[in-house]
Amino acid sequence: MRYISTRGDKTERRFCEILLEGLAPDGGLYLPVAYPQVSDATLTKWRNLSYAELAFEILSLYIDDIPAEDLRAITQRTYTEAVFGTAAITPLKQLEPGLALEALSNGPTLAFKDMAMQLLGQLFEYELGRRGETLNILGATSGDTGSAAEYAMRGKAGVNVFMLSPLGRMSPFQQAQMFSLQDKNIHNIAVEGVFDDCQDIVKAVSNDLAFKRQHKIGTVNSINWARLLAQVVYYFAGYLQATKSNSDKVSFCVPSGNFGNVCAGHVARQMGLPIAKLVVATNENDVLDEFFRTGSYRPRGSAETHETSSPSMDISKASNFERFVFDLLGRDGARVKALFGAGGFALTAEEHAAIARFGFSSGRSTHADRLATIKLCHQRYGQLIDTHTADGLKVALEQREPGVTMLVLETALPAKFAATIREALDIEPPRPAGLENIEALPKRVTEMKADAQAVKQFIVDHV
Ligand SMILES: *Cc1c(COP(=O)(O)O)cnc(C)c1O
Repeated sequence: MRYISTRGDKTERRFCEILLEGLAPDGGLYLPVAYPQVSDATLTKWRNLSYAELAFEILSLYIDDIPAEDLRAITQRTYTEAVFGTAAITPLKQLEPGLALEALSNGPTLAFKDMAMQLLGQLFEYELGRRGETLNILGATSGDTGSAAEYAMRGKAGVNVFMLSPLGRMSPFQQAQMFSLQDKNIHNIAVEGVFDDCQDIVKAVSNDLAFKRQHKIGTVNSINWARLLAQVVYYFAGYLQATKSNSDKVSFCVPSGNFGNVCAGHVARQMGLPIAKLVVATNENDVLDEFFRTGSYRPRGSAETHETSSPSMDISKASNFERFVFDLLGRDGARVKALFGAGGFALTAEEHAAIARFGFSSGRSTHADRLATIKLCHQRYGQLIDTHTADGLKVALEQREPGVTMLVLETALPAKFAATIREALDIEPPRPAGLENIEALPKRVTEMKADAQAVKQFIVDHV
């Protein structure tokens, strides 16, 4: 399989060439030249596989520059019961007939980002080892991504992580998760400022090309193709668990921010997985819901981005969305370049009508909806869900169709967002074993002014 950019550069690259990269040189995102098709017979054969074996089968359709036995060993090391809590890795939790949660949040940081990031850690270590290179990952986080990256990269040979977070602004649990890591290759930097200040520093350092090259600076952000590919696997795993035969259809409802999670569902559907609908659920930051309803895409400024109780979906610009638009517009790279170069855009009526062919629909949820849905789910189904999953369930209940099973992707555990659980139900969400006293552990973090020069110096001193 080869990969091209969404903005018209047709240079074909191989998987391991783009593994450690972010954007394509023309500013686009990488996609495979074509989606491999999964036949009915293959899907049937996959019904008997473990999650790690299924991951190997799907990844091998996209990766031909890692020997099969190595790739198999990588997936076996990644998707273990020890790391993800169950043999099924992403088990379904039945709510009622035709409605279930797919649990994606039983990895080390209790959010779905572990599903992809744990694989990325193994792939990075493998590829860097093969090349005899090192990489210094620089990132900014408001919570879930940074911790998932740190838990995936801790102790990995050839990789250092420098993670910026806004001082005092993450929840005590999130801070404890990150700052309690004592691994020598993990560096937490708490910046005096807000998340945008952290992101500006990452941009400033990355734009210093000489520094970037000399100090081998890389990223693990959500546009990385390998992360997206890893997520394709759980759409297949969810479908195969929910159905007995390949003639059954399943819809997925996906709590969305950067469009990374649901974009993997789009890829699975393009490969031939019998997905009826892909339902995009947003919170008050409803750029995507507006797009799917109206065909007009209006990314917002940070001043217009609301702080909500499902904070991992508080985005103004959906960084993976360009991949879907590329497919929607018949892979016309020049048009995609014009649209995204201009910031916002509106589709023609004909283009907007094509969205239905791709199975997409959308809905929106608010703080009041989250509280009501957390209550409803607890009372009606006896299940405690987090705020992001609640956004998904709220929209799923509105958009279910008779005869089609609806799977809601559970993107985090309630323990991560305890304040809103208390507000909804006046109870304390349980914590997985071993995390009861995580706030009391010794912390390893350096506090710093919002100054790119100081961050550069810190990197130089610690590699
Ligand atoms: C990152 C995240 C999301 C949003 O996923 P995208 O891939 O950005 O659409 C939703 N819920 C939780 C808990 C997350 O951490």
